[in-house]
Amino acid sequence: MNILILGSGGREHALAWAVMQNPKCDKLIVAPGNAGIAAIAECASFDVESGEAVLNFVEENAIDFVIIGPEAPLAAGVADALRAANILVFGPSKAAAQLEASKRFTKEVCDAAGAPTAGYAHFTDADAAKDYIRAEGAPIVVKADGLAAGKGVIVAMDEQTALDAIDDMFGGAFGGAGAEVVIEEFMEGEEASFFVLVDGEDVLPIGTAQDHKRVGEGDTGLNTGGMGAYSPAPVLTADIQETVLAEIIRPTAAEMVRRGMPYQGVLYAGLMIKDGKARLVEYNVRFGDPECQVLMMRLGAQALDLMQAAAEGRLAETKAQWADDHAITVVMAANGYPGAYEKGSLIGGLVGLPEDSMNMVFHAGTSDQDGKIVATGGRVLNVTARGRSLQEARDRAYAMVDQIDWSEGFCRRDIGWRAL
Ligand code: AMP
Repeated sequence: MNILILGSGGREHALAWAVMQNPKCDKLIVAPGNAGIAAIAECASFDVESGEAVLNFVEENAIDFVIIGPEAPLAAGVADALRAANILVFGPSKAAAQLEASKRFTKEVCDAAGAPTAGYAHFTDADAAKDYIRAEGAPIVVKADGLAAGKGVIVAMDEQTALDAIDDMFGGAFGGAGAEVVIEEFMEGEEASFFVLVDGEDVLPIGTAQDHKRVGEGDTGLNTGGMGAYSPAPVLTADIQETVLAEIIRPTAAEMVRRGMPYQGVLYAGLMIKDGKARLVEYNVRFGDPECQVLMMRLGAQALDLMQAAAEGRLAETKAQWADDHAITVVMAANGYPGAYEKGSLIGGLVGLPEDSMNMVFHAGTSDQDGKIVATGGRVLNVTARGRSLQEARDRAYAMVDQIDWSEGFCRRDIGWRAL
């Protein structure tokens, strides 16, 4: 099977790593890829957000299966273009990708599905939004409706912060994404992520994880794309997972079918858990990055079979099996991230690190310059390990971190603290 993966982050390196281990994979191309991916697969460069460009590449290279990593090509309708041409693709249609691309859409689907989530109201007018905030009081959550690269959510602990957020959003701080806002009830609790594959009606759980959004140890400082993750998430007990499937995820899948936009791909439910009950915070229509890295570490080569089964509508007859162990990933980022940071610093110490089913350094923002690995992004490396316990996995990951020679980068030293 010739496979194309779209994307360039640690998520796509982990997907490529898992896919490459499956004997079914004859040839793997990743577009655009990065230096770590280039070491295990061919990389190609074209506009991955253009359905036409992707389709041309697929036809020229006899690709049998396309796996779409990030949300942007999904929201741009790349999966639709491929399906229309009868190309096997893993990833939802543009219509179904609204589960991530529009907060309002998601709220309406949850209401129709009876899925527990935060109470909300929706506004296209700043004055009405402010009146609502004054009436409800803080804490309260203000969200730009559209895709804002994870930055369109303000959790306001006081009323003024919420009112200022309205001014920012209607003032264009988030571009088109802020022209509509959703204002939500603040939910307390512990957050965790639940990942399932969906092929229309059928849903197959593939793991749980928790990430670390804040840049600083003890979950302090600015929000980031994610500084580390581990799987499984102990807070998502088997009982809670069953309830989430029954009350949130299956009804969502059924509602999407009812709307004539069946969901197909990975559905990532961000959940808030309090007193043994889960409510939905948000859906994402792709794997989390860095959560994908720990999921792939635990699923290995079967990840390809599972994604193919989802794409072919065979999930009802498919089982996921993973080692009953733990995986952790520690993100190494460029000094200054998530603020301004330098690009181009040299990363040493990577050669000689173990690369096997227990230990992997996935690359996120790197490039290869004359055989040397240099940092080209904010989040640069994902140092990932498995172990019989989370502690063992964590010790292994930090032992690798300590061998990496990169004074221009940093990481959090407390990934996994909540579970430990
Ligand atoms: P979202 O993009 O909707 O996931 O929001 C980003 C982050 O904001 C979430 O991961 C939560 O930490 C927080 N958040 C979003 N909605 C709420 C809510 N209703 N109550 C509390 N925290 C929230």
